[in-house]
Amino acid sequence: MENVIFDINHIYKIYGEMNDEPIIAVNDVSLKISKGDFLSIMGRSGSGKSTLINCISTIDRPSKGNIIINGKNVLDMHDDEISEFRRDKLGFIFQNYNLLESLTIFENICLPLSFNYEKGTGKDIKKNMIENIAEELYIRNILNKYPSECSGGQRQRTAIARALVSNPSILIADEPTGNLDSKNSKELMNVLQRLNKENGITVIVVTHDPLIASYSSRMLYIEDGKIKNTINRNEKNQKEFYNTIMKFNEQQEI
Ligand code: ADP
Ligand code: MG
Repeated sequence: MENVIFDINHIYKIYGEMNDEPIIAVNDVSLKISKGDFLSIMGRSGSGKSTLINCISTIDRPSKGNIIINGKNVLDMHDDEISEFRRDKLGFIFQNYNLLESLTIFENICLPLSFNYEKGTGKDIKKNMIENIAEELYIRNILNKYPSECSGGQRQRTAIARALVSNPSILIADEPTGNLDSKNSKELMNVLQRLNKENGITVIVVTHDPLIASYSSRMLYIEDGKIKNTINRNEKNQKEFYNTIMKFNEQQEI
């Protein structure tokens, strides 16, 4: 299994451990994610999806258990090593975008490229990278605006552009299409699908939408912090996988 990027072993995230009734947001999750995987994560609100992907992306730390990233235990990594991993390898799309309101759309997208854009060498290269990704996400015309001057969809696309601008090898997205209409959601998923197929980037996406999940090759269903089910796409086409996920979700509604 030399292609395993994330080897997640029995992780827990427990909030309020000292209290009578602690919240076990992630409850003994083990999981391997390989290079080029396209994973979707579904589950009711409050089931622990965000907490799980925050642990996987090293934004948060599990209370117990360990995560091995590219053969190295995160617990053994120094803070700067973890930051370097996040900066060089990982694109993360937050559920609430996390845009900086005092920066323009251009400057927001530029953030992962470096903090000294003005001084840095390769300024033109960075500008090019930003313009290219903005073009792809239809926000090239708003690069000089501030987030407050943009629509919800444009803000979300800015967050996506910021996650993709540095060409990460791993993209983790927390409900990235929550504020996009179905046409724009499909467009975004087509971008992610192309990056996955052509560039081999590893994609992990949390979603409530079976259509979004049908782009993935494996769907994890989370309940009470545990992986309740894993559904593999196998040889199914997207439509068939969509139907399988729909059926599965309906059975969970009782
Ligand atoms: P989801 O993303 O599936 O909606 P979350 O991972 O956000 O679920 O939350 C899982 C559980 O952990 C919920 O019960 C939530 O209230 C709790 N939780 C999340 N973050 C915190 C926190 N910082 N402090 C205390 N409880 C939290
Ligand atoms: Mg969430």
